[in-house]
Formats: sequence, C-alpha cells, structure tokens
Amino acid sequence: MKVHAIQTGFVRIKRAQAKGRGHGLARRLAVFTDRHWTDWLPTYAWLIEHHEGIIMVDTGQGAHLLETGRSLHPYVRWEVVFRIEREEEIGPQLRALGIGSRDVKRVVLTHLHMDHDGGLAHFPLSEILVSRREFDAARGWAGRVRGYLPQRWPPWFDPVPLDLGVERVGPFIASRLTADGAVVAVATPGHTAGHISVLAHDGDITFFLAGDTSYNQDLMLAGQVDGVSTDEDVSRATLGAIQHLARKHPTVYLPTHDPQSAVRLASKVKALPQTVEEHKS
Ligand SMILES: [Zn+2]
Repeated sequence: MKVHAIQTGFVRIKRAQAKGRGHGLARRLAVFTDRHWTDWLPTYAWLIEHHEGIIMVDTGQGAHLLETGRSLHPYVRWEVVFRIEREEEIGPQLRALGIGSRDVKRVVLTHLHMDHDGGLAHFPLSEILVSRREFDAARGWAGRVRGYLPQRWPPWFDPVPLDLGVERVGPFIASRLTADGAVVAVATPGHTAGHISVLAHDGDITFFLAGDTSYNQDLMLAGQVDGVSTDEDVSRATLGAIQHLARKHPTVYLPTHDPQSAVRLASKVKALPQTVEEHKS
C-alpha cells in the first residue's frame, strides 16, 4: 500500500478559524470579525494505492471556487479565499500520473465542505462514500444556509451513506473500507458533526488522513478547537482521541491544510513518541 499527497491549490482563512478564540458563540463570530488571514495553506487530496483498487480521500478544490466572491452566503463570500488553476484540479493531476477516472474504485469524503468535495466532477464512475450524518447536514437549502455548496455537486452525485460503528480502532468507532482492514474510516466529529477521517495502516505505521479535524498538527497536539466547530466538547474529545492513538501507536497525522503534511508523509514523521508500557515479569 502507498499513500500519495496531491495538492489542489491553496486557501486562506481567518486566523480565528484555524485557531478558535474564546468560547461559544463568541468563538464562532470571531471568524467574521478577525481581520487577520492565515498564509496561503495547501489543500491536499489523498490517493491510496491498495491491492483492492485505488481509493481517493477527498477531491480537493475546483476552479469554480474562484467565484465564491459572488456567493450570497457571508462565510463563503467574505471569510475564505481560494487559489487554483484548472490543471491543478484533481482530475488533470491524476491523468498526469496515468490514472483515469475509471481507475479510482472509491472516493471517501471526510466532509462536504467546498474544498473537499470541489473535485467531485472528476469521479463520475467511482463509488462515493460520505458519512450519513454529514450528507444529511449538507444537502438542500438547509445545507446552503450552513455554508455548504450542494448546488455545486454534479447532478449524478448520489453517495453511498457510510455508517460507522461496526468496528473500533483504538478510541474510535470505525468502518472498514477494504476487506483486509488496512484502510478504515473513523468518526472524528467536531469540525463538522459528521466529519470522518481515514486511517491507512501500512506495516507498523498508521497514516491518519485527518481532513479538517485540525488545520495543522500543532493545533491537534495542543487540543486547540477551531473557530467553526459547533460543539467544543466534541471537538476536544476528538483531538484527545487522536493524541491517545498517536501515543499508543506510530501515527503520521495528515490534516488537509497543514503545510507540513506532505513532508511528514514522505518521511513518516510520527505525531508523538510511543509511551513505554511497563511490563511485569
Ligand atoms: Zn472543512
């Protein structure tokens, strides 16, 4: 098995979104009042080569996101800026690697924010998996009010709902994505209530494809909730569960927008050293 990082352009958000400020409603309003932007952050999609077939985790940005300045939604219009060329979309990049849309067996979406489902149009022939809770939150007018862009989904988009809880991986409820259990989806609620992450177990190492569970590794290790999560306690519990896993098991943590994710993937840099268990003889 091999995991590849594919960058689909850049995004800038408010600093108060990456690292939440204050609590409750004040934390969520700070995203709108903060005048400071992050640097340009990468938006990664992930390709997993597995003997059962290629699995994509997220689809990255689409060039249509350059038009968000005309959106009626205040977050979409004012609080996020994208940079991407058409040839940086996931489809052309996969073709450059010799991978056609027919070759991608499955696409798993960590959540349905616009920079994760923005490349869906490139996968008309793949099975697409979305957590049931996430899909229900994102669809229709209610989804548009929440800042999703369901009107941008391809007309054929009809994902297979993913229900987690059949299995467990460490502290997480999980569901297998491959028969051998090497690739699993785990529930990582917080950033959105239906957010999932994908774990790819490769020998001793687990690659933790974290979506927007946090915007970078330092924020995860600090247990720092972002500015858009609806429930701080749920977010904090998820970040704590990731730390717990990373302490028990060699884990390479790979958030979508962490500028260091591709380097950590290539060099298999673990999030934390493993705690030594005391054995009684
Ligand atoms: Zn997101």
